[in-house]
Amino acid sequence: MNDVTSDTQTFEYRAEMKRLLHLIAHSLYTHPEIFLRELISNASDALNKIRLRSLTDRELEGRSGNLRIEISVDPDARILRVTDNGIGMTQEDLVERLGTVASSGTLEFMEQLQSSGQTVDTELIGQFGVGFYSAFMVADRIEVETRAADDGAPAYRWTSAGEGTFEIEETEREGPGTTVSIHLTEENAGYAQEYRVREIITRYSNFVSFPIFVGGVQVNKVQPLWRKRRDDITDDELENFYRFVANDFAAPLGHLHLELEGRVNIKALLFVPASAPVQMFRDEHFHGLHLYSNSVFIQDDNRDLLPDYLKFVKGVVDTEDLPLNISREVTQSSPAMERIRKALTGKVLGLLEEWAAEDPERFATFSGQFGSVLKTGLAEDPSNRDRIVSLLRYTSTRTAADELTSLSAYAERMHPDQKEIYYVLGASREVAEGSPNLEYFRTKELEVLYFTDPIDVFAVPHLGEYRDHKFVSVEKAEIKEQAPAGRASVEGSRLENLLKELRLQFSGRVKDVRASKRLVESVATMVASDHGLDAQTERVMRMLNQDYKSESRVLEINPSHDLIQNLALLLEGGEKDRFGEVAAQILESALLLDGNLETPADFVRRATAFMVEATKPKAADSADAQSSA
Ligand code: ADP
Ligand code: MG
Repeated sequence: MNDVTSDTQTFEYRAEMKRLLHLIAHSLYTHPEIFLRELISNASDALNKIRLRSLTDRELEGRSGNLRIEISVDPDARILRVTDNGIGMTQEDLVERLGTVASSGTLEFMEQLQSSGQTVDTELIGQFGVGFYSAFMVADRIEVETRAADDGAPAYRWTSAGEGTFEIEETEREGPGTTVSIHLTEENAGYAQEYRVREIITRYSNFVSFPIFVGGVQVNKVQPLWRKRRDDITDDELENFYRFVANDFAAPLGHLHLELEGRVNIKALLFVPASAPVQMFRDEHFHGLHLYSNSVFIQDDNRDLLPDYLKFVKGVVDTEDLPLNISREVTQSSPAMERIRKALTGKVLGLLEEWAAEDPERFATFSGQFGSVLKTGLAEDPSNRDRIVSLLRYTSTRTAADELTSLSAYAERMHPDQKEIYYVLGASREVAEGSPNLEYFRTKELEVLYFTDPIDVFAVPHLGEYRDHKFVSVEKAEIKEQAPAGRASVEGSRLENLLKELRLQFSGRVKDVRASKRLVESVATMVASDHGLDAQTERVMRMLNQDYKSESRVLEINPSHDLIQNLALLLEGGEKDRFGEVAAQILESALLLDGNLETPADFVRRATAFMVEATKPKAADSADAQSSA
């Protein structure tokens, strides 16, 4: 077998590749058998490439008949071989494609997983583009023999034990294509059994669009499920197909089978997964939809068929509207693609609307998993804003922490004279709940939505209205009626004088000082100025941009609070120093609750001084207090 026609060259893996290989070989996996799915998927990619090229490339014309994947085993030698007659690899491909990690986040993420001591869900391996190397979960040596499809291309043998190096030498091979030989470790010898291989293929690779032979017998179906009549598809087939397109182990939350004719011509099988990937906003997790043109596979990661905010949808779209041999760039911007995207978007939103109306439990699961992504659609797709807004779910001052409400349910509960929908932005429900700005709304039993998803800060400006009701922050809601005081209050010119003095003392720190209508129990609170941002939005802006200059906020004081009444008396009695200290403490307490007290040292110094005063023992008790201590 060793037809060496040139010297063997030894290559060193790059440092990060070595670490990755080490992780793959030394982690515990939930489903190691998926290495076979990854090898078959690579073979299928290679077959697709040669088929697509043969459509446009004279040289390859007619060379792509009988495209197939063959798997053979040698139980005694513990070898499993996966052979395809696809596009093959050049020497450069072998070095470049089989020597580096595809995505830069991969290593970091895998190390994070491993250091947290978890078993690694192998689903992630495929998602991160380290598919080929997953074979080192079960192998102590891998050999790749390959010949590129170009005329006269030489054949090469690539070998590696998955440690520091790999080797490449020239070899002989008849046609174009690739054979990957997996030398299994002793404990994984079971994968060199035909029945085991068949079982894995049926489970994970049943819908690969090329025939897969094991021991000369075709194992998979090769039948485009989406072209079958709806009634002829069984639940089992659907679930298996979902596993195949989505690389998911769990059943989907639901699916959509589409057959559209007319302005757009599509057959599609789309799925909504039951759970979101970890770190959902990382792009690696979303590979897009599989695109077929008249049953011919084009791409398995098309991201133009749906807008970004629906990128959680998995599945297949088969269309007659896009030409086969067209470049990605052209496809992206073609009017046909635009029409398809519009149609698919409408159908997916329709499915979600159906769940929202008829299956609230399923829809609640959806909202919990993908609600955040959906919200990004408010900015991305204004044409569907009303439909998206209707699909949003929030917790509120009327719901339990784990219970969501729709806007239509909110609207039904609105007071007869209530015009606006109120919300409070916060880092969490606990933080938002503690905001003094909610006091008025609580007393008046006005429902307030908690906007505590990190994405809410960005979604708010695009919310617009819901059925003619504006969304208004509790920080900005204009409150006409004074909160029921029922007690003495600083009023008239006394109040004016107090406010004037406070404005003077806080000039530069706040934009204004006002008498509050929204406070009931608390002394003071910070609110946004007329054109300013909510506290939470300010915080996020500062986090995102070091140079962000915060807009000054407005201090509101509660004229009927005992402390404000005392404060007015201090001012009127000419006790300037005490007035200054108490006033500063009131401001900084409000800033603290607002999450915007940046230098707490003075605050603590004053609090300590006040406590010393409050705890001064009365002369008579002091002896007792000391002796019992
Ligand atoms: P991915 O498939 O996500 O690109 P893999 O680690 O599975 O990542 O494969 C790495 C690369 O190796 C592929 O992109 C391809 O270029 C090459 N490759 C692997 N297997 C084959 C094969 N059977 N035929 C041709 N090229 C292959
Ligand atoms: Mg792959």
